[in-house]
This record gives sequence, C-alpha cells and structure tokens, in this order.
Amino acid sequence: MTAARGVTWRPYTQMKTAAPPLEVVSASGVRLTLRGGRSLIDGIASWWTACHGYRHPHIEGAVKAQLERLPHVMFGGLTHAPAERLADQLAAVLPGDLGHVFLAESGSVSVEVAMKMAIQTQAARGQPHRSRFLSFHGGYHGDTFATMSVCDPEEGMHRRFARALVPQVVLPLPDTPDRLANVQSVLRQHPSEIAAVLIEPLVQGAGGMRFHDPEVLRSLRSLCDETDTLLIFDEIMTGFGRTGSMFACEQADVVPDIITLSKALTGGTLPLSAAVATKEVFMAFWSDDPEAALMHGPTYMANPLGCAAAVASLELFEREPRLEQARSLEVQLFEALRPCAKLPGVVDVRARGAIGVVQVEDASGLHWMRRRFADEGVWIRPLGDVVYLAPPLIIEPEDLETLAAAIFRVVQQWGAGR
Ligand SMILES: *Cc1c(COP(=O)(O)O)cnc(C)c1O
Repeated sequence: MTAARGVTWRPYTQMKTAAPPLEVVSASGVRLTLRGGRSLIDGIASWWTACHGYRHPHIEGAVKAQLERLPHVMFGGLTHAPAERLADQLAAVLPGDLGHVFLAESGSVSVEVAMKMAIQTQAARGQPHRSRFLSFHGGYHGDTFATMSVCDPEEGMHRRFARALVPQVVLPLPDTPDRLANVQSVLRQHPSEIAAVLIEPLVQGAGGMRFHDPEVLRSLRSLCDETDTLLIFDEIMTGFGRTGSMFACEQADVVPDIITLSKALTGGTLPLSAAVATKEVFMAFWSDDPEAALMHGPTYMANPLGCAAAVASLELFEREPRLEQARSLEVQLFEALRPCAKLPGVVDVRARGAIGVVQVEDASGLHWMRRRFADEGVWIRPLGDVVYLAPPLIIEPEDLETLAAAIFRVVQQWGAGR
C-alpha cells in the first residue's frame, strides 16, 4: 500500500475509523486492477463517469494526440480547436437552442456558473431582486458553498455548514397535486425573489437515486414560463445516456434555459464541465457595458485535453450503439436485481436507463456492505439506504449478472444478520 493513511485526505471519510482505500494500478473496460493483481468489476463507473468503460482506445488516442500538441493554454483572449469543436458538438446534440457553452473543470463549478447566469439574466431583465433559487428535497448539486445551499438541507454531507449558507427555497419535489400547488404558490408570489428553479431531471442521483415522472418537468416548465423564472436542469449525473436517452430532458420533451453537464462528459477520463445556455439567456449579457459580461473564468477552463476527450466521447455515442446499450440495461438491471425484492430488509427494487437500485430499510449496513462488496470482487458503494448499479454502458450481461449476484448475497447476509 503506497497510499499512507492521512496523507491524502479522503472524500466524505472519517480518517480515523475508515478502512484504508484500495490501491488501483490500472483499469480496462469494466475492470479495475488492484495492487497485488486482484481485479474488481466496477458497478458504478467511477461515480457514473466511465460510460464507455475505462481506457477506450478512441478517447485515449485523442488525448495522446492533443497532449503532443497543446496540453493547456489559458482561455482568456485565446481559443483552440478542441474547445470550439466541443462547443459546436454540444450545441448540435443538445435539444432546442441550448448552444452557448461555458466550459469549466468540475460539476459544482458549472452549477455555480449556471446560478450566476440566472441572477445576471434576471438583473438584465430589470429584476435584480430575483437572486434566490428554488430546488428540491433529495437534490444534490455539488459541494461548493452556493451549490450546497440548493442541496437537500437534511442531507448529512453538508449539515455542518447550514449556518454559512445563503438561504434558498428547498421544497418537496412536485410529484403530487399538493406539492405542485406549493411550488406554484412560491413562484407566483409578487414580487418573486426566485431567479431560477434548479432540478436534476428524472433521477436525483447522489440524494438516493430517486426517480420522478417526466410530467414533473413539464409542470415546472410551464410554471417557469408563466412566472418568468428560469429553469436549470442539472444533468451532471443524467447526461450522456445514463437514463436511456442522451439527456434526461428529452424524455419529457422539455428544454431548460440552462443545462449543466460534467461526470460522463469526457467519458470519465479528465475533469471538465459545461454550463450551456439558450440564445435568450446568452442575449441577456449582450451589451456595450463591459460589466454586463458573465463574470466567471476558471484558470483551467476549457482545458484542451479535457475538450479533446469530450469530443472523442461524443463521437463514440455516434459510432457505437451506446444509447441502445443504455436502454437495454434498464430491462437487464431490473430483471437481474428483481430477486432482491423478496429479501428481508429490502423496501424497493427499481431501474431506469442504466441505473438499477435496491433500496433497503436503513443505512445501518453501509460500511459493512462496502467492504463486503470488495471481498466479492465487485466495486459497489451504497449511498445511504440505497445499493445501486450505474455501470459503464458497455457492460456485458455476464458481468452484470456477477454484480447483481453480489448484491443479492451481500444484502441477504445484511438482512439475516440485523
Ligand atoms: C456529481 C454532481 C455534481 C457535482 O459535480 P462535481 O464534479 O463533483 O463538482 C453536481 N450535480 C450533480 C447532479 C452531480 O451528480
């Protein structure tokens, strides 16, 4: 073990009590190889990023070629072909006229940029008092201060910072008439303080892989139109095939005003994100006043290696049957996980696109299960009370069966031992 405990600070990890991390020395397809030679089948694609599996030769080739030409250059006053090509390709593949692309380095930062876009757009429309956001219970939008303010307030990862956050309006997701009426009454208040509504469409990811119907998104779109509120879809988790379509919003036939993308944007190879706005949002910044510009500019924005990887990843969605694979995973995941439904302690089994979920009664088995999965030769990390699969979209049926069988055994043992 080269990773000494306490030198690299681990994410969301109690350093005193956590089991030491496993050291990965290489990866290929759906497999991670550990020091010592053991390998694990990855059931969660490195936090849902590695949609084409690890080290796809097309992406690797594109990154190598870019590395030999221009690994990085600042984006202020300069540009480069990978960024321009990526922006064009994103505009072509996104629905509606979402086509003005701000490139950053992490998902959280792209959400921050989307929030800035919304506040500045409202100010440009003569509505400077509209500077707050409406978001939903169960939502997750990042770990930075502005994004924490729009996450589920009960969610344990951020509770300690509650007093340092700007208060936003976080409501139950409008999936019943009463809840919709609640959202309606907030948005119809005059004068409204809300600049934008922010939601992860169809699947709330880190908040527990919770699904909702496309109808929720259609209701929000019409309410936002009625009240001149912007609608932001955070598709950082759902984008690039994860829910069975390229973007989740397509399944509702709804176009948001701003969309955020990251996670699978580079096929899991390099950190990159995008906040993409419609022409109408973009034009709100179009002015002779330099101070009316979008005030954001990360040092490593539009990194050429990341952009080259993202261009190659988008090409793979055209060249290979990735979306068909994602859609067929929905049936495969549900069939493979369904036997878990009868295990003691299991409250729900569900699948949407390439996400399969076994929900249990409580999170008491979390740490025990995480260790047990690695012993079973699979890489699966339950989130709270949710044991889930979100594998590389290229996974073969046998490997999927292995993952599902491991979930069955581990959840069965947990249920029997409670
Ligand atoms: C992961 C995630 C983020 C944050 O992205 P980072 O790259 O971790 O900052 C934001 N929103 C959603 C929906 C995510 O899944």
